[in-house]
Amino acid sequence: MAPGSGVWSSPAVPAAVPSDADVVVAGAGPAGLSAAAACAAAGLRTVLVAPSVNPWTPTYCLWADQLDAAAGPLGLDPDAAAARYSPTVVRTAAGGERRLERDYARLRNDVVHAALLDRLRAHGGQVRTGRVTGLVRDGGREVAVLADGGRLAARAVLDARGGGPGSAQQRAWGEVVAGPAPGLVPPGGALLMDWTALADPAAPPAFLYGLPLDDGTVLLEATSLAGRPPVPLADLRARLAALLDAHGLRPAGESERVAIPLDARPRAAGPGTALGAAAGLVHPATGYSVASSLRLGPRVAATLAAGGDPRPVVRAARPRTTAGLLGLGLEVLLPLDTAATDAFFAAFFTLPERAWGGYLDVGSPPSAVAAAMARVFTALPGAQRARLLRTVARVAARRAGRGGRPA
Ligand SMILES: Cc1cc2nc3c(=O)[nH]c(=O)nc-3n(C[C@H](O)[C@H](O)[C@H](O)COP(=O)(O)OP(=O)(O)OC[C@H]3O[C@@H](n4cnc5c(N)ncnc54)[C@H](O)[C@@H]3O)c2cc1C
Repeated sequence: MAPGSGVWSSPAVPAAVPSDADVVVAGAGPAGLSAAAACAAAGLRTVLVAPSVNPWTPTYCLWADQLDAAAGPLGLDPDAAAARYSPTVVRTAAGGERRLERDYARLRNDVVHAALLDRLRAHGGQVRTGRVTGLVRDGGREVAVLADGGRLAARAVLDARGGGPGSAQQRAWGEVVAGPAPGLVPPGGALLMDWTALADPAAPPAFLYGLPLDDGTVLLEATSLAGRPPVPLADLRARLAALLDAHGLRPAGESERVAIPLDARPRAAGPGTALGAAAGLVHPATGYSVASSLRLGPRVAATLAAGGDPRPVVRAARPRTTAGLLGLGLEVLLPLDTAATDAFFAAFFTLPERAWGGYLDVGSPPSAVAAAMARVFTALPGAQRARLLRTVARVAARRAGRGGRPA
């Protein structure tokens, strides 16, 4: 089946999986499927194993430049792979409307999924339906142990089975409405954050997120960026319903429910190499990991094809100190009320794009993240700065009590 022509419909391979695989990839989300396709294309004998290999259902977004950078190494046509949005808009009460100089993009899941699966199969990769229950070492090989008793041995097992639980979560409730919704979402553009649309001083901070979809409808989401405990989805649904009512809009499609653990630990060391959310690539402030995962797959594949160890490549995709700083950033955001959150993002997006963009990438060097944090701090009103310093001191004391380990 040609890339982009729909859902891969070939039956999964039930049993005839070679025992001489170079790579077994567990999990067929964005991290696993992109890594498997890249490994096969790099000439590695690759087996992908997952309970099912259907197109992804969440609405996955990333920055357009991230898509462009990731597309080539994965053999994706960037124009077919995603819808692009310009302008990308942020609204705050403190800073008004800001048009970011960075375009946004939404993956066309059916196109990307089919293209990656096609690439995997075209290079001899195989798909096995199954659930991996454990990873072990056997001699010099890594082995994925399956629930049905099967064992898949390879030089390397890549574990992309998704992230673990976390105490802080991003939550969102989304509805599709008839488009356009010009008062809410800029025509042709993306509404990244509108902290004014759902503002309620008596409720946890929440912003409106909105994107036009390919069929002319618009996806609107009431989003809690970070909550510990997480904001109940029912509350976000009610707040979105009230907003839709006020604008005379009605839900016209499937709802989207978002729950992303923000502080899940990367999978513990052991056999196999974790990828994607399992490797802690989820950004603690945005919940995003897809761009990092798409970028990482071909790097891991190239390393394996050259006979190398993929683990340092994965570690470099999420420097430990960067993760610690971003974890601190999450702790700073969590206690903020609606007005303080609004002021924080008004300040954040006054930074040059290079500065805030660096903060939003788990792969950035710690110096870039620290510099962005310092600049936001300087841009904040005085009262906010004092509050932020108190939070940082509290988190630092807590971490010191745990021997310096990040939350
Ligand atoms: C609704 C929603 C919207 C999101 N939107 C965005 C976004 O716009 N941008 C962004 O960057 N991130 C987004 N995220 C967050 C994050 O990037 C996603 O969670 C992403 O799916 C993580 O990719 P992954 O491949 O690491 O893991 P997953 O997508 O969770 O994939 C895990 C895979 O492993 C398989 N699996 C599970 N258990 C086993 C097992 N035992 N054996 C074998 N296979 C197994 C699963 O079937 C699945 O195929 C969103 C999350 C949600 C829930």
